[in-house]
Amino acid sequence: MHIQQFSQHPNHNEFDHHAHWVMIVPPDFFTHAQNLPYHHLFQQRLNRRLAKTSDILSIELPNALASVVSLKTCTPENSFFEKLCLARELIEAHHSYLPKTIAICIAGFPAKVATEFADALIAAIGAVQAALPDYRKQPSPVWYIEKVVLYGAQGDFQQTLASNAGNNLARYFSILPSNYLNPLIYREKVLALAELQHWQVNFYDLDALENQHAGAFLAVTQAAEQAGSGILHLRYQPKINSSHHKVALVGKGVCFDTGGLHLKNRKGMAEMHEDMQGSAVALGTLLALTQLQVPYQVDCWLALAENHISPTAYKPHDVITASNGVSIEIVDTDAEGRMLLADTLVLACRQQPDIVLDYATLTGACVNALGTRYSGIFTNREALLPQLVATGKTSGERVWGFPLDADYDKILESEVADIKQCTQESEVDHILAARFLKRFVADSVAWVHIDLSSSHCKEGLGHIPTDTTGFGVRYSVCLLQQTALWEALD
Ligand SMILES: [Zn+2]
Repeated sequence: MHIQQFSQHPNHNEFDHHAHWVMIVPPDFFTHAQNLPYHHLFQQRLNRRLAKTSDILSIELPNALASVVSLKTCTPENSFFEKLCLARELIEAHHSYLPKTIAICIAGFPAKVATEFADALIAAIGAVQAALPDYRKQPSPVWYIEKVVLYGAQGDFQQTLASNAGNNLARYFSILPSNYLNPLIYREKVLALAELQHWQVNFYDLDALENQHAGAFLAVTQAAEQAGSGILHLRYQPKINSSHHKVALVGKGVCFDTGGLHLKNRKGMAEMHEDMQGSAVALGTLLALTQLQVPYQVDCWLALAENHISPTAYKPHDVITASNGVSIEIVDTDAEGRMLLADTLVLACRQQPDIVLDYATLTGACVNALGTRYSGIFTNREALLPQLVATGKTSGERVWGFPLDADYDKILESEVADIKQCTQESEVDHILAARFLKRFVADSVAWVHIDLSSSHCKEGLGHIPTDTTGFGVRYSVCLLQQTALWEALD
């Protein structure tokens, strides 16, 4: 997507040159914006609408192209999340025309606010043109917007474009049905991408995991012969190693979750092909950071498996031992995500990254606590928490912090093992899952765990128009691009 930028407002000729316009101005803007083309017409339409409606206006201009303008008045105080929502609405107003060029006019705001609105609009444009799986005889046409002409705001939108590429990839993989994305197919697709992106690749198959004594991971995969299961390790190495920093991204990649012997019911199994979204978000984040050519090494660890019911499946009260020697009493076979992540985190931490971020559609308790519009965040560096939550506000992918105090471990005490996997009561399971995972993270590594309660939000979220949100890519890129984060870690 090519972005042409002009700091000034469009003149009459320029306005008539484009067939599709998106416009954002403050509420009383046109009463004193006498030099803006068609300002009378815009003001008239604003005067005629119902006083309290906040809907966007769709206006056709009396010019040769009959240009369509989607217009919204708003105040600069909108949160960035609200700006993303508004941007999606404004872009969606043009969807039925599938225009290849969109012109944007932002007027009447301080430069910083104008750039934020522009950023939100570009994020929304990037999101709408995702080519997502569609197996219908006549698939919906994909809307490719080749060019954006931006008036009244300027900025470097590379971070947003890269985050969009990562998010679109994450949504693509997450939406694929599990018969189109089992662990084996998933790995093949990722390996093809790795070649294009020049990522180093290492795959720990089940034999290699056996050698690592990764009993927690193998407990889940023992239910069935799963050729593709294992841990896929990808590495982005900066061309010029200008930083000694290392980031690790870890993702839960359960291509289908039946619940195992604790079989899910019909409703609970409905969206379980998306139980690999954590891995897709880790992968999407790696893609975005690669596109941005970040100056630090990024390791990405994808825990690829399925959770099946079978005579050889792991059972409640089994005791298994993870690769760091911690023994686990199994309580609920449907809590397979934390089992897979346990050994994956151990491997990731052995490389001594400065920070490890893990992503998982992990607990129903987190959805109960937050709904599907926020994701839950946990960290073993409590001082980072305000910055982690603030990044949710500035990125528009909102997170809320939960406690990780040691006394929660009392609930996970076992008579036969070092720790219980979880409890039968799902009360605070999101916190217990984080406490459980912490046992597999080296204390020397800063760790951020994101429980993706907002991975699937009805009617989309922010700038994302699909129920599957790919939440976390934009957030992570925004977090890792902050110098304040690296200062806090040093
Ligand atoms: Zn499960």
